Amino acid sequence: MSDFEAPDSLAQPFQRVRSQIELACQQAQRQPDSVALLAVSKKHPSAKIKQLHALGQNSFGENYVQEGVEKVQELSNLGIEWHFIGPIQSNKSRLVSEHFQWVHTLDSEKLARRLNEQRPEHMGPLNVLIQVNISEQSSKSGLHVTEVTDFAKTVSKMPNLKLRGLMCIPAPLDEAPLKADFSKMHQAFVELQKNYPQVDTLSMGMSGDLSSAIECGSTMVRIGSALFGQRPS
Ligand SMILES: *Cc1c(COP(=O)(O)O)cnc(C)c1O
Repeated sequence: MSDFEAPDSLAQPFQRVRSQIELACQQAQRQPDSVALLAVSKKHPSAKIKQLHALGQNSFGENYVQEGVEKVQELSNLGIEWHFIGPIQSNKSRLVSEHFQWVHTLDSEKLARRLNEQRPEHMGPLNVLIQVNISEQSSKSGLHVTEVTDFAKTVSKMPNLKLRGLMCIPAPLDEAPLKADFSKMHQAFVELQKNYPQVDTLSMGMSGDLSSAIECGSTMVRIGSALFGQRPS
C-alpha cells in the first residue's frame, strides 16, 4: 500500500532486532536460525502483543503472574507460546504451571516439585530452564553454577517437567567481564547437554547485550525495550 507507518508501529523495531540477531550470528559464524527471539511483553498491553504477533512473532515472555495469566487468557486464540521469566512465589506456582509452556526461572527443588505436581496432564510437560546466578550477586535468584549438575538430576526425574537448559541475568558489567560470565554459562550448558540430549536452550541476552550473548553461545535472547520501547512505569 504505502510506506507510511504509524509512529507506534512495531514493524521497524522488530526488523531492527531481527537484523541485529542475524548480524551477530554471522559475526560469530553461527546459523541465523540458531538463536530464537523471545519478545518480553511485560507491562505492555495485549494490543501490542497482537500487533507483534501479526508481524510473525510467536513467543512471548511475561514476568508477573497475574498480568501474564490475564494476557494468556485474553489472547488464547492466537496460538502464542508463552514463557514465564519472572520470579515465582510458591503460592503462584499453580497459575504458572496451568498457563505457560515454559519457565525460565527454576531455582529450587521446592518450586520444581510444585510445578511438576501442578502441571495439568493435558498440557504435556512444562519446559523448564534452570536459572543460574552467574555473576554471584548476593541478592539475586538463581543457583550457583556448581549446583547445576545435582539440581538437573533432580529435575530430570520429574515426569511433568522437561529440562531444556539454562538461563541467566548477569550483573550490569562491562563488556569483558560480561562475556566472561556468558562464556561460563555456555560451558555449563555444553556440560549439561552431554547428560541430557533434550537440552537445547541457553536463554541469555537482553536488549542491551544481545550481540555479546550470541557471540558467547546464547540460543534464545529475551528482548523487551528494543522491541516495544520503554516500559510504562
Ligand atoms: C524485562 C526482562 C527482559 C527484557 O529486558 P530488556 O532490557 O527490556 O530487553 C529480559 N529478561 C528478563 C528476565 C526480564 O525481566
